[in-house]
Amino acid sequence: MKPAVFQHVAPTSIEEVLSLLREHSPDARILAGGQSLVPLMNFRLSCPSILIDLNHVQDLAYIRDDGESLAIGAMTRERTIENSDLVRRFAPLLHEATSHIAHLPIRSRGTIGGSLANADPAAEYPAVCVALDFDMVIRSARGERRVRARDFFLGLLTTALEPDELLVEILVPKAPPRTGSAFVELARRHGDFALAGVATQITCSGDDIAEVRMAACGVGPGPIRLSAAEDIIMRDGLTDATAKRAAKAAAEEVDPSNDLHATASYRRHLTGIMASRALLRAGERARAP
Ligand SMILES: Cc1cc2nc3c(=O)[nH]c(=O)nc-3n(C[C@H](O)[C@H](O)[C@H](O)COP(=O)(O)OP(=O)(O)OC[C@H]3O[C@@H](n4cnc5c(N)ncnc54)[C@H](O)[C@@H]3O)c2cc1C
Repeated sequence: MKPAVFQHVAPTSIEEVLSLLREHSPDARILAGGQSLVPLMNFRLSCPSILIDLNHVQDLAYIRDDGESLAIGAMTRERTIENSDLVRRFAPLLHEATSHIAHLPIRSRGTIGGSLANADPAAEYPAVCVALDFDMVIRSARGERRVRARDFFLGLLTTALEPDELLVEILVPKAPPRTGSAFVELARRHGDFALAGVATQITCSGDDIAEVRMAACGVGPGPIRLSAAEDIIMRDGLTDATAKRAAKAAAEEVDPSNDLHATASYRRHLTGIMASRALLRAGERARAP
């Protein structure tokens, strides 16, 4: 199918984007990499009257070291994140998650802002975002606000973004020293959306675990923080036995449904396996000399 008729505008500055959004929302849609929006438009599941194309707004594509965090512009391509030494060094969980996203041509167009704004429950970035509780910088003609990841994802394909708002920047907290992370998922074929995936980051202090952060994708209406699993590791430390108990807790925390690809009980079962693998792998990396 072909999309319904729409007007295309290609602003070159953030201010122009905000003023177009003020003028045309809620009938306008932002076009980032187009990897999710264009198929929806082709199936006429989305029929905006005007597309505001961000691809000429240079000020939205960057990765900067901002001291405590990495500041990533919303139009930064997934492929740029995959190739970034800053991301590899300071945000290894985000880096590893990127390699699971789709295929090279899709990562070359798809953007971090598009993935987070799209809020697909099976997508990798929202799970990493919730695990590490990224700060999102959002702008509109009315001003700027910041929203933490825990308040950003509201449900299936739904976020806290208002129709006239633009996600401009994502602040990714830098991994502290002695941190290990792992993103583990199962998809039917490499590059498919995950049936279940778990993002985990562990920080050690001496022989103790100082912090554990976990979230799952593909097993609920949005990304799910695995707090009960985190609590077990924080309280009892990380061993094969506690990883098993945390995995069981993780499987109970998620909220999958039956669909064409898998039953809810299979996804729940997978969540436990992914959680245990991610914990043990992240722990090994955190403890590595
Ligand atoms: C075959 C295929 C396989 C895929 N597999 C995976 C996968 O395994 N894992 C995965 O995570 N993703 C996967 N994707 C999706 C891909 O990662 C997309 O890049 C991503 O979901 C959307 O990013 P985009 O930049 O293309 O956004 P677009 O498609 O341009 O936009 C998506 C939505 O976000 C809105 N939007 C975009 N940018 C902003 C912004 N800055 N502020 C406010 N709203 C904004 C748009 O209006 C639209 O509603 C796949 C896509 C395809 C086609």
